[in-house]
Amino acid sequence: MTRPLVAVLSGAGISTDSGIPDYRGPDGLWRKDPGAEKLVTYEYYMGDPEIRRRAWRMRRESRALEAEPNAAHRAVAELERSGVPVRVITQNVDGLHQLAGMPARKVFELHGSARSVVCTACHARGPMEDALARVEAGEQDPACRGCGGVLKPATVMFGERLDPVVLGDALAVTKACQVFVAVGTSLQVQPAAGLAGVAADHGARLIIVNAEPTPYDERADEIVREPIGTALPKLLRGLSSRPAPTGRYT
Ligand code: ZN
Repeated sequence: MTRPLVAVLSGAGISTDSGIPDYRGPDGLWRKDPGAEKLVTYEYYMGDPEIRRRAWRMRRESRALEAEPNAAHRAVAELERSGVPVRVITQNVDGLHQLAGMPARKVFELHGSARSVVCTACHARGPMEDALARVEAGEQDPACRGCGGVLKPATVMFGERLDPVVLGDALAVTKACQVFVAVGTSLQVQPAAGLAGVAADHGARLIIVNAEPTPYDERADEIVREPIGTALPKLLRGLSSRPAPTGRYT
């Protein structure tokens, strides 16, 4: 018998143990400082050099690139290494699934990656690390070295469209999987939220691991409310050694 394909949809909650704040959550930056939202809104970012200088200062101070994967990221990579086919669909831009050992081609980053920068004019990409080194060295708004265009993180800002290729791959995985684990996501932001419904429509076992209720709890086969750092490794170990457990946990 072939092993079931497991799709893991991850949101901000999987990375909070790594020290990365949930910007949209109740205590998130976007609620505390509405002005901060401009820093990640394409129109403002492109139109106002002062917004860009603030954004680069924020990126430099946040030290997000220094974050390390936690037990939950490692558990996903370990499941993949155990021979179970695993694909990750993530709303996060932190790259921690790959750092934990997930092959990059098996990770679909719906909102892009904060570990790279992209030129808004010629679309050349480069490491965020290099751009931040230039900021550290005194450039307030480093421009593309190739064409002088505005550089931005390779993330999907407010006002930008999701990459249709990444979205198409995520949808294909969602339709094909036998188990769909939504972890650390409130399932309220589209299109990620809708994927949970698509998975259930296509007969996948839907497992939701999240502290708070989600709009898809009614459709879930299993709901786990315990902390992700301990609950996810336990859950995924179960998937690697035996058929998916039955029963409903609340
Ligand atoms: Zn360029």
